[in-house]
Amino acid sequence: MKLALFDSYRLGVVEQHSRTIFDVSERVPGLVLDDGDPIGAGWWVRLCRDFDEMAPRLTDDLGSCPQRALDDVRVLPPVLNPSKVVACAANYEGHVAEMAAARRSAGRPPGAGSGRFDVFLKAPSSIVGHDDEVVLPREPLQEGHAVHHEAELALVIGKRCRRVDQERAMDYVLGYTVSLDMTVRGEGDRSRRKSYDTFTPLGPWLSTSDEVRDPHDLPVRLSVSGAIRQDDTTANLRVRIPGIIEYVSRVMTLYPGDVILTGSAPGVGAVVPGDDVIASIGDLGELRLKVREETT
Ligand code: MN
Repeated sequence: MKLALFDSYRLGVVEQHSRTIFDVSERVPGLVLDDGDPIGAGWWVRLCRDFDEMAPRLTDDLGSCPQRALDDVRVLPPVLNPSKVVACAANYEGHVAEMAAARRSAGRPPGAGSGRFDVFLKAPSSIVGHDDEVVLPREPLQEGHAVHHEAELALVIGKRCRRVDQERAMDYVLGYTVSLDMTVRGEGDRSRRKSYDTFTPLGPWLSTSDEVRDPHDLPVRLSVSGAIRQDDTTANLRVRIPGIIEYVSRVMTLYPGDVILTGSAPGVGAVVPGDDVIASIGDLGELRLKVREETT
């Protein structure tokens, strides 16, 4: 099932080939139409947790639900106030190599821990959705720092978990979406450099795990204003999804609705105001963003 949040946080089931969205909001107990403030997010967390029980209710006689053309609605990020956004560092060989090369050519020593797989946090407030804007923040631009795109497969957690073994880890994945881990290049704390508002685009919708035959065999592509920058496959993930979940869940309890970005494919590069960024991963849909400069 492809789940989308749209307009005033309505819940939709997307039929991709007909570009139709079925409004199933009425079928979700306690759904709160609001402006996305955390106070209203409980229904979404419950839906993530209880998805297996809810799924038949959502899809039963779908044709009787109000229908909208996908192009006529405003699609929102397909997550609602996750307790955290975890992201993987150094998870594609090609990206590790390009970052090391960039440091060498800038005459900088290898970074501490660079090249080693690890995880870090991004602020959930940095999330935006399909057709939103990525805003390049004023101070880093004034200081001459570039802002880079990183196209990444993202997953959403279904059930709460802690210290999950790889063997059982996939049971905790609710689904997948396309993500960008926007990044201010340079020194300084990574969580700050990756947590500016608009720095975590997600979307266009959430494809539940039953829709994805093999999450480790998906093409990852990103173009900037028509030029292909990133073109790789999730087959090249160094630490695969079960390993990521095992690693993260040894550190922190994962809650329903939490988001994990699995790391950037190679080909990262700078974006500038006016750029159109399009990222796609397999059949998860196309995530499109416009880049602008912070003006006020
Ligand atoms: Mn990244």
